[in-house]
Amino acid sequence: MDDVVRHWVGPPVIMVGATAGVQVLAWVGSDPPSTTPWTLLGNIHSWAVVTVLLVWALLSLWVPGKEFRGPTTSFGYTPIYKANGFQFFLVSLGAFLTFVYYFQDFPQAFFSNFHNVLSSCNVVAFVLCVYLLVKGKLWPESAEVVEVKPLLYEFYRGMELHPRILGVDVKQFTNCRFGLLAWELFVVIFFLAGWQRNGFSLAHLVCVVLQTIYLAKFYWWETGYFNTLDIILDRAGYYICWGCLVYVPSLYTFSSYYLVVNPPLVSETGAVFILVLGLVAIALNYRVDWEKEYFRAHDGKCELWGRPATFIQAQYTTTSGLRYSKLLTSGFWGVARHLNYTFELTLALAWCLPGLGHGILPFLYFIFLTVLLVHRVFRDEEKCQAKYGEAWDRYCREVPYRMIPLVF
Ligand code: NDP
Repeated sequence: MDDVVRHWVGPPVIMVGATAGVQVLAWVGSDPPSTTPWTLLGNIHSWAVVTVLLVWALLSLWVPGKEFRGPTTSFGYTPIYKANGFQFFLVSLGAFLTFVYYFQDFPQAFFSNFHNVLSSCNVVAFVLCVYLLVKGKLWPESAEVVEVKPLLYEFYRGMELHPRILGVDVKQFTNCRFGLLAWELFVVIFFLAGWQRNGFSLAHLVCVVLQTIYLAKFYWWETGYFNTLDIILDRAGYYICWGCLVYVPSLYTFSSYYLVVNPPLVSETGAVFILVLGLVAIALNYRVDWEKEYFRAHDGKCELWGRPATFIQAQYTTTSGLRYSKLLTSGFWGVARHLNYTFELTLALAWCLPGLGHGILPFLYFIFLTVLLVHRVFRDEEKCQAKYGEAWDRYCREVPYRMIPLVF
């Protein structure tokens, strides 16, 4: 029964629901009198926007520059990425702000075409995912043997871990260079569109500033992202590629999009409070991730919170033999097993708070992220248990809480 739901029922239901859902969201936050009619395949405006973003993203991975080697897979493949994320972010944001300075009608035009932009993103994502499915089956990048599953499930889950197209890594392209840049530019556009329609709003600015800092932080650390579940566990298919090409530009930007037609009711003092809450959450989320990276970079020989780091020695097997690893049990990783997710959620709540007083809709991203991260905790723990066995069980006994000490 589990298999039927997982392989036959889940994928089509999720794909139809999510693909249509983003279009509904765009409609929910729109302003019908000034909104351009929607078409399933987008329009000239939407294709111009999406084409520029795609080409820009591709160029950023084609320019000569430093490369980064990701973790080698259990089947011996080492993915190669471009290590210019932060420059890409700064240049893109600078170029975009210059563009809107000269074309001040653009934010309104974009806002009234947003549902068409998402249609174009949907078309691109579906074409890419079909290609990835065919490529994965006929001419995969590596010799990994992937179990055959129902076709729709394979399309949804993806075939390959690290496919390359046009000389670039597909997931770096879709996740880092298209999805997250679209997220950043779209929230800035919505802030400008709201400003032009309703006058300046500090709360809306705070919503955008927090997301901008968060995304700048992401790009600063982009090479660290290549060690995360999205990259080492998720195959390039509908789930992750459509997610980054369509879902991220839609749902992740929704709290800012919604404020264009529904201006914030939060006072300036409230906005300052939200800013402080968000900044603290960003700092703590960064700190948790940093502690693990620092600990791993020093192979456990380092201090955290003024004391030598403590850890559990773990081992796991790959096709090339036995490997060793260490599980940190001090600092934040000794308080709970996923405090980075807890602070990530606090931050998401902070940038949704400017929509307070407009019901549940401005909080959709926060609600979605709660479900995503709680589900991700379980996925991650399943992966770690399978990888480390008894050492992981010991870690769970020593650090018994997942996200909130004494609660969960
Ligand atoms: P983590 O950074 O928490 O990494 C989990 C991995 O770390 C595990 O699989 C394991 O990998 C290793 N690990 C777990 N416990 C320990 C320990 N005690 N000591 C050493 N290593 C350990 O997860 P993510 O990759 O999901 O998240 C990275 C960042 O991205 C976080 O800040 C998160 O909040 C953010 N994020 C944001 C999302 C969004 O949509 N906004 C979605 C997902 C994440 P190994 O096999 O290497 O041992």
